Amino acid sequence: MQPDATQANTEATLSVRGLKKVYQTDGGDVEAVRNLTFDLRAGELACLVGPSGSGKTTLLKCISGLMAPTEGEVLLDGKRVTGPPKKMAVVFQEYGRSLFPWMRVRDNVELPLKNQGVPKGERDRLVDNALEAVGLSHVPRSYPWQLSGGMQQRVAIARAIAYQPEVLLMDEPFAAVDAQTRADLEDLIRVVWKKLGVTVLFVTHDIDESVYLGERVIILSSSPTVIQEDIQIDLPADRDQLNTRSLPRFTELRHHVYEQIQLAKKGHRPAAATSGGAGTE
Ligand code: ADP
Ligand code: MG
Repeated sequence: MQPDATQANTEATLSVRGLKKVYQTDGGDVEAVRNLTFDLRAGELACLVGPSGSGKTTLLKCISGLMAPTEGEVLLDGKRVTGPPKKMAVVFQEYGRSLFPWMRVRDNVELPLKNQGVPKGERDRLVDNALEAVGLSHVPRSYPWQLSGGMQQRVAIARAIAYQPEVLLMDEPFAAVDAQTRADLEDLIRVVWKKLGVTVLFVTHDIDESVYLGERVIILSSSPTVIQEDIQIDLPADRDQLNTRSLPRFTELRHHVYEQIQLAKKGHRPAAATSGGAGTE
């Protein structure tokens, strides 16, 4: 199913419009992102997949208001983003650097709520629920450095969930954990997404991960970056690592995404930003 273009504008939670980012460096200008336009509707789970260096982190920094785009704009519920919006949370790749090592797990998760002035009772409830959602109820008094990499990333996810964002941005959050943990965390994201109804933009360079996780996959070209293709993932809503990944449709979709990325690498520009997707007869 394709999103209805006429509805997409009015229902969009997040709109990226003509976004361009050029870094000015001593060695000259670096055009990281050339021209990106897409909408995310409320409650959507979209993956953005693109090769390393294609500007994924740059895009997320612009969306989350941490960096101003060179051209274009980001709108959240129709309002232009000019700094970190309250309704957004970001989970970064480097969990090791995003948690405070001197604070216990519980305090790390609670910190943004404290900063928001959420009352103590409500904070406790939100932190308890978030730790339970990520399966960390048993380690609230540990320090991050006492936990495995996968557990640390769970803490970062719990912190984002406790904050109750409307939009959750994730920048290759599982790139540094082992394969088994990664599979568990992927499933956790789908569970959390379903439970909270949050809008998720999940960035990855991993094609299989994008197809397994997403309801939609936005494929980036390599640098200078544009959208190569934007496809709906018509896999069953209930996914599991064994069965979903062995479905013929999964193979077709991953093949299609892979092919598009290869084409992009060879410089084939998309005919149109949005197409009908993989093998839709
Ligand atoms: P990705 O996250 O897809 O790997 P990035 O957004 O990190 O890509 O980088 C996109 C391009 O922009 C790369 O060529 C990178 O070298 C360049 N780049 C990223 N950050 C900076 C910066 N702060 N200054 C200059 N160039 C940068
Ligand atoms: Mg990156």
